[in-house]
Amino acid sequence: MIYLDHAATSPLRPEALAAMEPFLRERFGNPSGLYAVGRDAQAAVDDARNRVAAALGARPAEILFTSGGTESINSALLGIAYAMRRAGAGNHVITTAIEHHAGLHTAQYLEELGFDVTYLGCDAHGRVRAEEFAAALRPETVLASVMLANNEVGTVQPIAEIAAAIRDYAQRRRHRVLLHSDAVQAPGWLPLRMDELGVDALSLSSHKFGGPKGSGILYLRRATPFRQLLHGGGQEMQKRAGTENVAGIAGTATALEIAANGIDARATRVRALREKLRDGIIARVPGATPNGCQENCLPNNVNVSFEGVESDVLVAGLDAQGIACSSGSACSNSTWEPSHVLMAMGVHIRQAVGSIRFSLGESTTVEEIDAVLEILPGEVAKAREGSLALSHPDGE
Ligand code: PLP
Repeated sequence: MIYLDHAATSPLRPEALAAMEPFLRERFGNPSGLYAVGRDAQAAVDDARNRVAAALGARPAEILFTSGGTESINSALLGIAYAMRRAGAGNHVITTAIEHHAGLHTAQYLEELGFDVTYLGCDAHGRVRAEEFAAALRPETVLASVMLANNEVGTVQPIAEIAAAIRDYAQRRRHRVLLHSDAVQAPGWLPLRMDELGVDALSLSSHKFGGPKGSGILYLRRATPFRQLLHGGGQEMQKRAGTENVAGIAGTATALEIAANGIDARATRVRALREKLRDGIIARVPGATPNGCQENCLPNNVNVSFEGVESDVLVAGLDAQGIACSSGSACSNSTWEPSHVLMAMGVHIRQAVGSIRFSLGESTTVEEIDAVLEILPGEVAKAREGSLALSHPDGE
C-alpha cells in the first residue's frame, strides 16, 4: 500500500507503542488509587504532562489530556465562551468558515446556546486575514478561534498576527478576548511554542502525529477562564473528569516529543516530495488544478481538483491500485457535500467535487511518489469516463 492520507491518521510510532504497552499490561492502576499501582499510574501521567509541557513551551499545569482533537476543541470553545459569558464579559465569538467540523459545528452549537458567532471568510488560497479578525472584534467579543493549518488544503494561518491584533484591541479597550487554535494538523511540521504563537488555548490530536487514536491534548494558558465540558471526578485538575487513558497519555507524550524534534529536516525532505508530486500531477494530468496556498502551507499536503472527475470515483480507483488518499476531508467523507473549505475559497463546485487530498508522511518515499505519478493519469482518465460529475448540480 502507498499510504498518502497522513492528515486523516498516521501510523503509531513504535516508540509510542513501547511507551504504552506497560500500561496495557502490568502497570494497569487507576491514577486515583492511593496504593502502589495507582501511584505508579499517576506518576506516569505526571511524567507525560511534564514532557508534553516541555515540548510545547508550556507549564505542566497548562496541559490537559483529552480523548482527542474533537474533545479538545469542543472543550475549549464551549468551556471558554461559557465561562466568559458567565463572568458578564459578553457573548460574541469569532471563528472562520474553514475550520474543521469539530470547530465549525461547535460554533454552530454555541449559536444554539445564544452566542453570536461571526464566521470570517478566506482568500482564494485559504488564508484568513488578521485585519479581518481585528475588524470583527467588538466590546462583547469573548473568544476567537482559528485553525493553525487547514486539514484539507494545508494553508497555514497567520496566528501570531491574529494574536497580536487581538492583544492590541484588548489593551486599548481593557477588554479580554481569548484566542484558541485548532493545531491538530501541525505537530511534526510546524514549530509549536505557546509563547511564540500567543494563543490562550490550543488543541491537538495524538493519532495525527504518531500517537494513539482516542488521545488528545488541550493547552490552556494559566488563568484562562474555563468551565469544564465533562463533569464527574476531579481528574485533570478539575478540568476534565474521567479516569485517565494512561496508556494513551504515555504514547501521546512520546509521540509528541519525537514529532517536535527535527522538524526542519523532516519538513524539507517531505516538502521536496510534495512539490514533485504536485508538479508531476500538473505535468501529466490535463485539467488538474492545485488548491490552496503554495507558500504558507504544510509541507505534506497536496490538494488537487481534477476537472470532470467525481472524487470518490477516483479515490476508489486509486484504492484498487493500492494507493490510499482522501476526497476532501476524511472526517466528512460520508456526505456528498462539496468541501466547505474549497467553497469558502471560491473554488467552483465542479472543481470542488473533483478534489483529492494527498497527505504525505515521514515514511513517504520518492519511489512511492514516482509510482503514484505513473498510476494516476490512467486512473483519472477512467474516473472521467465513469464519473457522474457532469450530472452533479453545479449551480449554473
Ligand atoms: N481538527 C482538524 C484540523 C483535524 O484535521 C481533525 C481530524 O481530522 C480534527 C480536528 C479532529 O480530530 P479527531 O478526529 O482526532 O478528534
